[in-house]
Amino acid sequence: MALLQISEPGQSTSPHEHRLAAGIDLGTTNSLVASVRSGVADTLDDAEGMDILPSVVRYTDHGEVMVGAKALGYATQDPLNTLASVKRMMGRSASDLATLEGHLPYRFADQDSGVPQILTAAGPVTSMEVSAEILKTLRARAEDCLGGELAGAVITVPAYFDDAQRQATKDAARLAGLNVFRLLNEPTAAAVAYGLDHQAQGVTVVYDLGGGTFDVSVLALTRGVFEVLATGGDTALGGDDFDRQVAAWVLDQTGLDVQDDPQLLRKILAEARKAKEVLSLESETVIRLEHGTEIREEIRLTREGFEHLIGPYVRKTIAWCRKTLREAEVEPSKVEHIILVGGSTRIPHVRREVQEFFGRPPLSGIDPDKVVAIGAAQQADVLAGNVSGESVLLLDVLPLSLGVETMGNLVSRIIERNTPIPVSRAQEFTTFKDGQTAMRIHVLQGEREKVEDCRSLATFDLTGIPPMVAGAAHIKVTFQVDADGLLSVRAQEKTSGVSASVEVKPSYGLTDTEIETMLRDSFEHAEQDMHAKNLAERQVEARRVLEALRAALEKDGQALLSGDERESIMRAQSELEAVSEADDPERIKQAIGSLERASETFVARRMNQSVRRVMRGHRVEEFE
Ligand code: ADP
Ligand code: MG
Repeated sequence: MALLQISEPGQSTSPHEHRLAAGIDLGTTNSLVASVRSGVADTLDDAEGMDILPSVVRYTDHGEVMVGAKALGYATQDPLNTLASVKRMMGRSASDLATLEGHLPYRFADQDSGVPQILTAAGPVTSMEVSAEILKTLRARAEDCLGGELAGAVITVPAYFDDAQRQATKDAARLAGLNVFRLLNEPTAAAVAYGLDHQAQGVTVVYDLGGGTFDVSVLALTRGVFEVLATGGDTALGGDDFDRQVAAWVLDQTGLDVQDDPQLLRKILAEARKAKEVLSLESETVIRLEHGTEIREEIRLTREGFEHLIGPYVRKTIAWCRKTLREAEVEPSKVEHIILVGGSTRIPHVRREVQEFFGRPPLSGIDPDKVVAIGAAQQADVLAGNVSGESVLLLDVLPLSLGVETMGNLVSRIIERNTPIPVSRAQEFTTFKDGQTAMRIHVLQGEREKVEDCRSLATFDLTGIPPMVAGAAHIKVTFQVDADGLLSVRAQEKTSGVSASVEVKPSYGLTDTEIETMLRDSFEHAEQDMHAKNLAERQVEARRVLEALRAALEKDGQALLSGDERESIMRAQSELEAVSEADDPERIKQAIGSLERASETFVARRMNQSVRRVMRGHRVEEFE
């Protein structure tokens, strides 16, 4: 087994000194902390014996901060001050947030730039501060359990997190007083937990279905390096959808109306979630509802019925697996290991579908909601210097290439995408004009040749270059990416030694779709068939949307829409029909978007008026 070994500066390897270290899974829905004790990595419990900490923080007007289950209890009562899912906001700008799907139900400070602030009873807070509260709670728990101060922690982040999202996570840790050994990709952590880093090589797929998000990652292991070949998923698909499906079904069965009763809806959702979790073990369950004082509902839900309700969602995750593998250019049969991560993978139907698609059983044995924290704990233990013998440092790779702008509006790449990090690379440049004494360094990220097609990360000036003829100066530009994927750039003129540098900390990050788009754009230019593929996918999507809408209109169009409303939907519909066979995936996408927007109210009304139809036909989610 050949593994890359790197000893970190200042890392103690003294055999007698055991440094306390923890791994933290900072999740959208739930967070956990784990540690290696007596050679075994496991999650740590709070005083009540719970290891899962709901990622929810509540701020009260007398400055109290509640974290976890206690805060979650106030979600209905005090929604504006009870903050959940802030992971979605990490490293995002105010304008990014405006476009986040399913707009966030909080009040925000009015601002054009900077880190968005959520207004709470205790004053404005940022997503970093909220995350810091979760991290503080986990840190205190770890220090209680381990009986001392933590030397450091490994915190996990989704593989698609960009520089800004990673930086925001590190900032949150700093606010929580945590020393971050490093950030680790969640799928990599899961693979570590299963000991796959000790294998020579192979392709691993990590299927992570959590509360509100689905991520699939294809990892290739070579010489101890996990390379993320591709990631895919849906940031708005998870266990919460299953809860909603069951709740909708309950409404349908009981005829209850929750339109003006958010409390009742909340309660039904909670019961739905309970039923869902029971059905992972039992073949049927009874949902009991008390509303008013005496009326009582008892509804039986079988596992089969439940599977029928969530089927479309599970199929969607499988479609993502197919797509992501294709992008990674890996055949399903070539996948050596499949790892299940996230609480929702406890559902037998999910396991079955995954197994069927890959043609082999996924690895089981480690609790799917603990596996990420456990892998992180193992890495933390290594980085703390507690593992004697070969200390192995796992490396991740850079998701997008990095370079600088050169004459002619072109990008000169300095570090290629997929280079293992940490890494440092230098390249020499020279002046363009006689007597030039300053040089502007423009740092870019992306795979394309032209500056405008890449993402600008930073600009800085190197001044004080001694006047020379054009082409005589030697300016060395060094790019350094640390183990967390954070970049610093330094430029130095050789004869005079003058230098300038910049640490790249963008104020907001790329969304995962932007990364996807940037990668896709670059591929498109390399291979024409990407275009064809893209087009084909859009056309299929267009046909699917049109078909679903046609059916929905036929059923409910007359009853639920006014003439004007129908007309505006039909306008968008014929527009999509017109472009759907054109050779332009972008236009098709836009037309799909317009049609979806135009039919929003229709979808909402159908949902309200007739939950029954939603359940039978599985149509509404197609517009979501
Ligand atoms: P995240 O990574 O998004 O923070 P988790 O991995 O902790 O989330 O998953 C939380 C989701 O898992 C919730 O929707 C929860 O209802 C679901 N879940 C937990 N246990 C079970 C179970 N036994 N059966 C089905 N779903 C479960
Ligand atoms: Mg998770």
